Amino acid sequence: MNSTIFHYSSGTKKTDLLIVKNEIRYCDEWGLGNIIYSSKEKTNFFCKMLENEIFVYQGHRLFATYELLSEPYCHRCGYPGVATENCSLHDDLYGFNKIYVMGKYSSRRKSLLEQHIISLKENKFYAKPLGYALACIASNRYEDILNAEMLVPVPLHPTEYGNRSFNQSLELAKIVGEQLNIPVSFVLMKKRVARMVGLTREERSRAVAGLYDVLPSRRKLVRNKYVVLVDDVITTGFTVSECAKVLRKYGAYKVDVLGLARTVLLTDE
Ligand SMILES: [Zn+2]
Repeated sequence: MNSTIFHYSSGTKKTDLLIVKNEIRYCDEWGLGNIIYSSKEKTNFFCKMLENEIFVYQGHRLFATYELLSEPYCHRCGYPGVATENCSLHDDLYGFNKIYVMGKYSSRRKSLLEQHIISLKENKFYAKPLGYALACIASNRYEDILNAEMLVPVPLHPTEYGNRSFNQSLELAKIVGEQLNIPVSFVLMKKRVARMVGLTREERSRAVAGLYDVLPSRRKLVRNKYVVLVDDVITTGFTVSECAKVLRKYGAYKVDVLGLARTVLLTDE
């Protein structure tokens, strides 16, 4: 049986989450028999945000606690652990105004936020808790985004879409758009498959150059618009730079980026 158990705790409350064949089932300290929801039932999520944590509830049950990005971080590119004036990582990024993220993503320690980001690559159910949390942080901490006229997910290439059967950025954008009442438009296209794993920063920069375009039939849609790009994890920032560049080329007057997490470089961990 393909099943996974996640353990999480908040204060004195400890809960286990059982996932069986991609169906979400709950269990608690009383035992596995106490199944309350399955993913086939209607899900009603809501969030509570404290200074550095966000609590995501499904119905009356705590589903997840995500750790939020805390100061210091770069307010221009969202990079964790560095004040804006000391950050040089956005010097070679372009096209967008700011990157707003919920938390950080490191390759060593895996927080619940990071575990759910990984799960989202396989199971689009996770777009719900993550998307609700992202909408909550946008409206509480990154209020500028509430003025956006359009949410645009970072696209996959059709081949990548075929392998996975969904685009995680689109699934997130749909939840965030629904919560913040901002329309989601699929206006970008990825022109070829480019593998980024194992590439250096310079190699990634070259690999994404010219990789994205605005779909010819959608070019008028972005003219004079404040657009927010939605992505799951922002690593180097070159992908969102390229996407923002083509949106600006077709007349978007401002482009911001909203993501679940910003990757911490290995040397900074
Ligand atoms: Zn920066």
